[in-house]
Amino acid sequence: MIYTGGIIILTGPSGAGKSSLTQEIFKEFNDVHFSISCTTRQPREGEIDGVHYHFISQEQFLQKIQQGHFVEYAQVHQNFYGTTKQEIEQNIAMGKLLLLDIDVQGELNIKKLYPHCSCSIFITTQTQAELRKRLQKRSSNTLEDKEEINRRLAHAYDEMMCIERFDYLIINDDFQEAKQRLVTIIHAFKNRTKHYNIQEFTKKWIDS
Ligand code: 5GP
Repeated sequence: MIYTGGIIILTGPSGAGKSSLTQEIFKEFNDVHFSISCTTRQPREGEIDGVHYHFISQEQFLQKIQQGHFVEYAQVHQNFYGTTKQEIEQNIAMGKLLLLDIDVQGELNIKKLYPHCSCSIFITTQTQAELRKRLQKRSSNTLEDKEEINRRLAHAYDEMMCIERFDYLIINDDFQEAKQRLVTIIHAFKNRTKHYNIQEFTKKWIDS
């Protein structure tokens, strides 16, 4: 196989548009695959088990931690989220490009474990006020929702403090422009020499 696998890490505050941008990426690239995380949070309307997440109980999650199934896991907004070894290693071995939508703790761990084949992209809004507006727009205005928005905004602040260590920054104010930037980054990432099995490529080249 001339092409080796790679990991694209998308991180950024909840409400910045990561999921919508991700959907666009799958329309644009048929060789990019979504890494399905495990989570203990409840599915939202329209979310499908095994497609958006593997929805599991806290007990099952803790068991997976003990059995060493995760390459990384974190507690985000009071729920557990984790990426399994199987998800990453099977796909990479098949030369696939994996897209991970994970938080800053996960990004740090994945970058440490796979420095040679990963790139990290931070997606955010131009202002904090815009993020709040988007979070409010998708909430149903209950007290619980208001608390959740405040929790997510506090987490967003912590995440914003990590931007500098990311490879790329996308400010998602204009969706089409943000999408175009993301597509460009992924094209560039795919063409890195590190994504080619150079020995195999040069051997074939010499033999040809
Ligand atoms: P949500 O509940 O909105 O789907 O996700 C909440 C946060 O958890 C998001 O920032 C998302 O990127 C992050 N997240 C989702 N899956 C994982 C994972 O496997 N590991 C880590 N560290 N974060 C995750």
